[in-house]
Amino acid sequence: MNYYSLVQKSPRVNFKEALFQGQAPDGGLYFPDHIPLLNKNWLGAIKNLEKEEIALEVMKPYVGKCIPEDDLYRICEETCSFSFPLVAIHDKISCLELFHGPTMAFKDVGARFMSRCLSWFVQHENREVTVLVATSGDTGAAVASGFSGLKGVNVVVLYPSGKVSRFQELQMTSGHSRVTALEVSGTFDDCQRMVKEAFADTELKKKRFLTSANSINVARWLPQQIYYFLAYKDWPCEKPPVFSVPSGNFGNICSGLVAHASGLPVQHFIAACNANKVFPDFMESGVYSPAQSVSTISSAMDVGDPSNFKRILELFHHNYAGMKELISSYSVTDHRTAEVIWDVHHKYGYLMDPHGAVAFDCLQTYQDLHPDEKGIFMETAHPAKFGEIMESTTGVPITMPAEMSAVMKGVKQSTPILPEYSDLIDFLWNKD
Ligand SMILES: *Cc1c(COP(=O)(O)O)cnc(C)c1O
Repeated sequence: MNYYSLVQKSPRVNFKEALFQGQAPDGGLYFPDHIPLLNKNWLGAIKNLEKEEIALEVMKPYVGKCIPEDDLYRICEETCSFSFPLVAIHDKISCLELFHGPTMAFKDVGARFMSRCLSWFVQHENREVTVLVATSGDTGAAVASGFSGLKGVNVVVLYPSGKVSRFQELQMTSGHSRVTALEVSGTFDDCQRMVKEAFADTELKKKRFLTSANSINVARWLPQQIYYFLAYKDWPCEKPPVFSVPSGNFGNICSGLVAHASGLPVQHFIAACNANKVFPDFMESGVYSPAQSVSTISSAMDVGDPSNFKRILELFHHNYAGMKELISSYSVTDHRTAEVIWDVHHKYGYLMDPHGAVAFDCLQTYQDLHPDEKGIFMETAHPAKFGEIMESTTGVPITMPAEMSAVMKGVKQSTPILPEYSDLIDFLWNKD
């Protein structure tokens, strides 16, 4: 498998190069040069397979010859070393819980797969890399946890001071070896700008081997397909499910679309959005107008210009009619999100986090129009991660799971810096 840049001005690269570069030199996103077709007999027998066997089969063509199969199997084992339960809420809606990993949000799978691949490459080459990442919360936590203590890999996370939850901050800043958290007295946009500047800095790149770990990296994006196969394995009905996916940068849903293109039976996809609704607007009008993001209670989806939009277009060969056939998209207000959390808790005794609740509500909207369809919504974070919002919107007291209480007892270790590139550079030059 090779990957080409969506800007089409950079040479094709293999999995390893795409992983190390993150983004193509022409600024484009990498895209697989073909979508492998999965064997129908294999899919038919998926119920008898283990998680890691499924993950290996799905990821093997994308990694190609870059990592031997035995080692890739071990990477897959470590990537999926927790559970992905499919829980029935009622007879038409089930929930795929993606929050049983170490940081209790769904980004663990992508971060663990990418980190282990990266570590495999550096160990076989005896070099050191620095992973530089800007975060508004969950990405930093997943990357810090996924990459912590891996040989040959140093991680530098930039996060906006005072703008992440206490839990997210402690997840990033305590108890990880080889991870440095830079606490920037600015916004997430400042953090992202500083990281971008570092990647464009040729002098710096001569001194340090830098790579990114955000969701545009194919090694973080593609393993998310595994969720859809695991859900399908446990799906009890004859007719394929509708998937409703809480979407921000659209990495997760785009990987589901790739899984479908390789043969996974799916009835329909729903891109569930909060008030940040460029994609629902695009599906309605055919016109894409990126906007400034607005803050909502499902904050991990506050994205005004989703980075994977271009990948979705590519997957459909820019065929808008084809997209409309397979994808629906709706936007849900904060008010409605809170209402649906309360509703589902009272009716069914199930507590959803705000991201999952957006997806639940969109699935309901779709089912009102298509009453015969059954579906799955993805619960992308543990409700206790958003404890304060949950308690104030629902009046439901949230109990913290033991893993979470342990994190809350951690000691924050961060380095404060100004939102200036010179501060980041001082840190990166002098660190050894
Ligand atoms: C990142 C994130 C999302 C959005 O996922 P995308 O792949 O960016 O669309 C949804 N929910 C939670 C909890 C997240 O952390």
